[in-house]
Amino acid sequence: MKILVVEDEEGIAADVAAALRAANFVVEQAADGETAWFEGETGDYDLIVLDLGLPGLDGLTVLKRWRAAGVSTPILVLTARGRWNERVEGIDAGADDYLPKPFRIEELLARVRALIRRSAGLPSPMVEVGALALDTRTMRLSVGGLPRQLSPLEYRVIEYLMMHRNRVVPPGELLEHLHGTDDAREANALEAIVARLRKKLGPGTILTRRGFGYQIAATP
Ligand code: CA
Repeated sequence: MKILVVEDEEGIAADVAAALRAANFVVEQAADGETAWFEGETGDYDLIVLDLGLPGLDGLTVLKRWRAAGVSTPILVLTARGRWNERVEGIDAGADDYLPKPFRIEELLARVRALIRRSAGLPSPMVEVGALALDTRTMRLSVGGLPRQLSPLEYRVIEYLMMHRNRVVPPGELLEHLHGTDDAREANALEAIVARLRKKLGPGTILTRRGFGYQIAATP
């Protein structure tokens, strides 16, 4: 899962990025409105954290432009303390949730997880597909009730496939959500990760649709 963090205050931006990375998200950052607008419009993000008080283009304008351009990515806005009108404006402009500053990083993480889940049509933090059960709060996966140890990359693959359980995910899209822009991304590395996952989870858990991509198996 890939998240864009738009925040001009360096300390907050660094803390949020570090916490999201520790929770196994891929994070890209923007510190001004223009960069944010471009990144959010062209990048393929699972969620955007958007501070409303930004240099250049302000956050509310960026948000309105994204929505006008058809960007449907879930957006969590960060608002200044006591600015209730910012929260109302943000939600009216198409934000999915808000968090007033100062906030606890745990609350931000919980809201991020909930928004991503809901945008995938999942009401519960436990995601179950076939024999697989993923607890998105603890990042633990079990197969038939038995826990499995996954590397961070393996976790990102299985989480993305489970969130998009009803369709075939093309390798290019999967790679896009596994790595940051600076990381090396290679299709054959993805094949190797999927092969390792099949060994850990069972040969029939991830299906390959030749020429199309990967899909999580609905039945064990
Ligand atoms: Ca700010």
